[in-house]
Amino acid sequence: MVKINCNQYGHIKENGMMQLELSPQGDIWIFKNIEAFEAKQGICYAIAIGNKDGYDEDDISTFTYEDFLKECTGNEEVTQGCFEMSGEMNNYPDYYFDILMENDEVLQCKCGYVYFPEGVTCCPKCRITTLMDDRDISELIEG
Ligand SMILES: [Zn+2]
Repeated sequence: MVKINCNQYGHIKENGMMQLELSPQGDIWIFKNIEAFEAKQGICYAIAIGNKDGYDEDDISTFTYEDFLKECTGNEEVTQGCFEMSGEMNNYPDYYFDILMENDEVLQCKCGYVYFPEGVTCCPKCRITTLMDDRDISELIEG
């Protein structure tokens, strides 16, 4: 895993509970822990709706490394990118994933696997060039 490049938010309190932190945009509360993501253990990301004064402790959505990995169809590289972006723009991991897909920043192969387009000419997993939406990867990477 290459070095993770993002901010951390919140911390674990003495009682073992998460303390979320108001996001940079100030309209949502987040917890983001790089160590937990790297260790692939425990909650690495959490989010709660609230306002400037606080959030509802009983209404926190939590995510583990496995959750991110699953969202990214098992591609660890994409998973890391998804984690790095989560929280920076106030939303859920699957939201970022959708944005990446829309902008062709990640591609989804006909086989279901997702991957970054840089430096590839076919799906790293199954080697075909047809994408989920029936485009061919050559349409996207012509030099
Ligand atoms: Zn494939």
